[in-house]
Amino acid sequence: MAVSKRIVLHFPRRLVDRPIVYRLIKDYNLEFNILKASVTPEEEGLMVLQLSGEQKDYDRGIKYLTENGVRIQSLSQDFIRNEERCTHCGACITICPTGAFELDSVTRQVYFDNEKCVACGLCVKACPPRAMEVHF
Ligand code: SF4
Ligand code: SF4
Repeated sequence: MAVSKRIVLHFPRRLVDRPIVYRLIKDYNLEFNILKASVTPEEEGLMVLQLSGEQKDYDRGIKYLTENGVRIQSLSQDFIRNEERCTHCGACITICPTGAFELDSVTRQVYFDNEKCVACGLCVKACPPRAMEVHF
């Protein structure tokens, strides 16, 4: 069975300059698309990937990463909306490059689909009540 998941990889400082993810293609038959990559002030490497392949290869690839000290989170856990803060003002709708926010014309509520989120971070600053929270 084929799977395709968006995940966040955290690399400890000692691994930042090693080509760890490239072995996912060569040794584990996986394909990936890098959605975001950065080095945090603590010099931890952070990469958001869309990782695709057969389930068994995916599982082996994840095992390889974790055994090498890479911490993995699922992306959907990382960008969340604080529902108590959201005022449904709609400021995030036009700024989101992937259309993750949608206005229901009947209820006038803004819905957030985190499956569409690619972690660009634009909505965090654009949201007046700071309802969008990053949990990297
Ligand atoms: S900008 Fe913030 S408050 Fe406004 S709809 Fe979007 S998430 Fe809600
Ligand atoms: S982080 Fe970027 S892609 Fe994700 S919901 Fe916010 S604006 Fe859209």
